[in-house]
Amino acid sequence: QGNEAEVAAFSVPSYACQRRTTLENHNTVLTDALSLLAENAELSEEDGRGVAFRRAAAVLKALPKPVASMTQLRGLPCLGEHSLRVIKDILENGASSEVESTKQSERYKALKVLTGIFGVGARTADRWIRDGIHNLRQLQDSGPTLNRAQQAGLEHYDDLNQPVSKSDADAIGEVVEKAVVSVLPGAHMTLIGGFRRGKLTGHDVDFLITHPEEGREVGLMPKLVSWLESQGFLLYQKTTRNSYLESKDGPARPASNMDRFERCFSIFKLTKEEKRGTKHPETLTENGAQTPDNGGLDLDLDLDQTKPAGHKPWRAVRVDLVVSPISQFAFALLGWTGSKLFERELRRWAGHEKSMSLSSHALYDNRQSKYLRATSEEEIFAHLGLEFVPPSERNA
Ligand code: ATP
Ligand code: MN
Ligand code: MN
Repeated sequence: QGNEAEVAAFSVPSYACQRRTTLENHNTVLTDALSLLAENAELSEEDGRGVAFRRAAAVLKALPKPVASMTQLRGLPCLGEHSLRVIKDILENGASSEVESTKQSERYKALKVLTGIFGVGARTADRWIRDGIHNLRQLQDSGPTLNRAQQAGLEHYDDLNQPVSKSDADAIGEVVEKAVVSVLPGAHMTLIGGFRRGKLTGHDVDFLITHPEEGREVGLMPKLVSWLESQGFLLYQKTTRNSYLESKDGPARPASNMDRFERCFSIFKLTKEEKRGTKHPETLTENGAQTPDNGGLDLDLDLDQTKPAGHKPWRAVRVDLVVSPISQFAFALLGWTGSKLFERELRRWAGHEKSMSLSSHALYDNRQSKYLRATSEEEIFAHLGLEFVPPSERNA
């Protein structure tokens, strides 16, 4: 005891969907470092490297104690040479030189600022950087054509880069619920995404809407959006018809009625009255709350000096709405609860271990050449031969 060599090695199963990952993370220094490298890889459109770092971080999130020595990591899955080097650097020197130099790099800083604009992805940001645009001031000055989403994103930049609290999510939930019930009595709404996993803050609020009678949900989204718009709740919205049928052929390609799956990416106007309407007090500083991870970014905040900062009686919040027919509800619920890595691992498990194809719409068994029905998340896990993992333990 106390001797490093005697510290017991950790053991975890290889797929994140076989593990229970709560929000209690004993290795935040290590997982923050690996997540930053994952983010940097994703922002550089190196998705393979991004996933590798995400998987490594997820293994460390599942450990019951802080890592004290490299020997404890022996035999753990998903820890490649690169991730191990980063961990070793931190354990021995208190920080990873690669992480520190990435954080300081002009390219990373510029990618963070530019992709912090709603509607701007890694590719657009990269193009702007090659055109000499590194911050919001330069973006405004050189004026590339912005689409409607990006204009809204820029206009609400500060608000949208503030974490959303659970009480804000609940306040928005009350409004959306009211809208849903007024446009389609009997329809119901579920909070999904990070808040369903028990997170105290998020980058947006996600809702899934359905009706217990198959088919009644058709046409719901446009009505819902009109209602919210007429009441002045939407600063921006883009409704997308599900493009599943048009997507390239795959075994999980649904047989019918999949084109009803609609979603709406919106920017919600949350006013003080709506906030007051909720029973829950603001809890922005609770344990686990995020601060906007700007990593010392040189944000050009001149944009907002024209506005009375902090004095407007509302804030902008990203809200995602998804409508699903009841026959697909369990798949939609599972697919939109996240985390993103947990979802990716579920699909990998299904494909590699079970010869099945899982999507947010359906589960197809390639061996039996048939779709497997499910009316609950529990049934889907059972079909996949996995122990049920509740939402609060899907924080991989
Ligand atoms: P945060 O608190 O940062 O919002 P989150 O887990 O809620 O975290 P989201 O980006 O809101 O993250 O995504 C929630 C879930 O919805 C994830 O499981 C993700 O896989 C799924 N999702 C997000 N966007 C899409 C999309 N365009 N198509 C299908 N699923 C999506
Ligand atoms: Mn979310
Ligand atoms: Mn979302």
